[in-house]
Amino acid sequence: MSMDYPRRQIRWIRHAVQAAVLAICGWAGWQFYHFVLHFANPSAPPGIRPASVEGFLPIGGFMATKYFIFTGIVEPIHPAGFVIFVGALLTAVFARKSFCSWICPVGSLSEYAWRLGRRITGRVWRLPKWADYSLMSPKYIIMGLFFFAIGIAMTPTMILMFFIQDYYKVVDVRMLLFFLDPSTLALSVVVVLTLLSFFIPNFWCRYLCPYGALLGLFALAGPLKISRNTEHCTDCKACSRACPSGIAVAEKDRVISPECTGCLSCVNSCPTKGALDIGTKKRVIAPQYFAVVVLLAFFGAVGLGMATDNWNSKMPKEEYARIVPRLATPDMKKQPIIPPDLQHP
Ligand code: SF4
Ligand code: SF4
Repeated sequence: MSMDYPRRQIRWIRHAVQAAVLAICGWAGWQFYHFVLHFANPSAPPGIRPASVEGFLPIGGFMATKYFIFTGIVEPIHPAGFVIFVGALLTAVFARKSFCSWICPVGSLSEYAWRLGRRITGRVWRLPKWADYSLMSPKYIIMGLFFFAIGIAMTPTMILMFFIQDYYKVVDVRMLLFFLDPSTLALSVVVVLTLLSFFIPNFWCRYLCPYGALLGLFALAGPLKISRNTEHCTDCKACSRACPSGIAVAEKDRVISPECTGCLSCVNSCPTKGALDIGTKKRVIAPQYFAVVVLLAFFGAVGLGMATDNWNSKMPKEEYARIVPRLATPDMKKQPIIPPDLQHP
């Protein structure tokens, strides 16, 4: 029995992708804060607006996707939100729900939390099956409500009317302010979810995230799935123990579950070459090629968005100057950042 090199390598490749995306998100958040600060307080120097912050606007991305399907037009205010939403759907179709375990910063932070919790407590906590299944329903209910409201009830004209509202124009700024100045209720919810995430793997993703629920359903249609070769399998159950989604991998020939995030922890932990792989019904692929599929599907969509000029917002800066001062927190508005006598030497 030997653990072949690509299997061991894959977890580090995934961790590297997660860390790189988190670093990009941190950089984008910092830059966007300074971009907004300039409009809240003109004595602050102007900043750049990283389009990638629109990745935090999946509902807008969903609306923009419907609008694109019906009109062929990419909405120009938050086009990166549309591109990232489509990129996430593409990763789901081609590479399981891999957006959650490879790219999503919330998924990465959730994973760090339960890994730390496991290190401290020495175990992974699992809810009883009845509680697990009951708690999984809210994300599908929330997703269903969004699907009904946007996918069915809203016409393209209604979506367009929403796009031209001030609310939507600066929905990215509203998101930033939510993080900078959360209400007591929002903060309490975040604290509770964070605490739960230390004990129960990926609590938010598993039970509450409607985005992940949607991606999981898209992933069911994908050709690549985890496959167990019963001729080579020794029934050691290392794969089942390693699965953060609680899937009994060792009892399946093929993992057909909307909860599989394509993290490949099961493949990585299987000690028997040829017993557990990812692939189509007819052919397995090496784990590192799966990584290539994940990156190509997501960053290919991003690259296409950039190449076709559907990445950076076309909204004039004057609109931010008009709307942001009404929204900015008192802290952002107060005191000149650069003393006036230094601004015009
Ligand atoms: S079945 Fe394997 S790839 Fe899917 S979530 Fe579980 S460990 Fe990850
Ligand atoms: S880890 Fe590999 S050998 Fe062990 S039960 Fe799973 S597929 Fe079989």
